[in-house]
Amino acid sequence: MEYKLSNQYNIYKFSKENPVALYVDSGSTICIETMDCFANQIQSETDVLENIDLERVNPATGPIYVRDAYPGDILKVSIEDITVNKKGVMLTGKNLGVLGEELTDTHLKIVPIIDDKIIFNSNIKIPVNPMIGVIGVAPEIGECYCGVSGPHGGNMDNTMISVGSTLYLPIFVEGALFALGDLHAAMGDGEIGVSGVEVAGSVKVKLEVIKGFRLRNPLLENNEFFSTIASSKNLDSAVELAIKDMAEFLKERMNLPLHEIVMLMSALGSTQICKVIEPTRAARFLMPRWIIGDLF
Ligand code: CA
Ligand code: ZN
Repeated sequence: MEYKLSNQYNIYKFSKENPVALYVDSGSTICIETMDCFANQIQSETDVLENIDLERVNPATGPIYVRDAYPGDILKVSIEDITVNKKGVMLTGKNLGVLGEELTDTHLKIVPIIDDKIIFNSNIKIPVNPMIGVIGVAPEIGECYCGVSGPHGGNMDNTMISVGSTLYLPIFVEGALFALGDLHAAMGDGEIGVSGVEVAGSVKVKLEVIKGFRLRNPLLENNEFFSTIASSKNLDSAVELAIKDMAEFLKERMNLPLHEIVMLMSALGSTQICKVIEPTRAARFLMPRWIIGDLF
């Protein structure tokens, strides 16, 4: 069954208290329309940031209740297609991002997107390379603002979350309560200036429930690699957690002692950064697919 979900159903926090926007069976495909991370409030470069409602940032469209999803199961999210609209927004400035101390003002830039190119200026055209910034499920207790990331997913800002990849999320509440938003027409690893090329658009995903396995944190795969994804207040502990999760995962699937798993991870694995900016940092640890074949 294929569904459509409008961006008028949106959340600013992942929480089991959110009213459900759509009920689907496991195995359904949904085309999800999203606003940009400013809730489409910035329409021109003269829109000043002071006039923007900062309570309305990082909206995610949803939540989607997946029938037969229970705490302890895994939600398999296959990303089948991403379409981005024709206008991107970029933002950086004073106290924003890694170089925020060197900037004195807030700078907004609206960039047209034409034929798979982002028109930065008349000389510089950035290739469109769409990815999903915010994607996740409701946490077990309380609420998580869409701007943060954690075991439930959220604002992981992981450039590998793109068309053709599959994300596996731990399920904490009945129905999973899945939502996504914060598309980027392009973003570099780290998102160092506080925004990518922020854009509204739509994403086609297939949602399936996997039973009989457990996850602590999100897992990702594409044709070449699979990866753990971990979030923390600081990057050091995010990196450490991503590595420990990978060791744990391989230990369960390979009949090898830990020291040999460590050797393989050291020889073949790649430590990569998702996000270096506040409020939570995120990192991933990649291994080649051929080392274990199918994940589940
Ligand atoms: Ca983001
Ligand atoms: Zn964003």
